[in-house]
Amino acid sequence: MAISQDLLEILACPACKAKVELKPDGSALKCVQCHRVYPIRDDIPVMLVDEAKIENETADEPQEQT
Ligand SMILES: [Zn+2]
Repeated sequence: MAISQDLLEILACPACKAKVELKPDGSALKCVQCHRVYPIRDDIPVMLVDEAKIENETADEPQEQT
């Protein structure tokens, strides 16, 4: 059972109060503003700043510097 859209809409990042979105693989929730990634354990989002990892949005962009 995945996190429902209804639940997503009531959740907010505890750090900056922005909304969070489900990662494509469904394993975590990511804040759209500060890019903290909150893990989901047993289908329960762990909305704790201490548990979050900050994911750099540019990290998985291809590096094409010549
Ligand atoms: Zn945030």
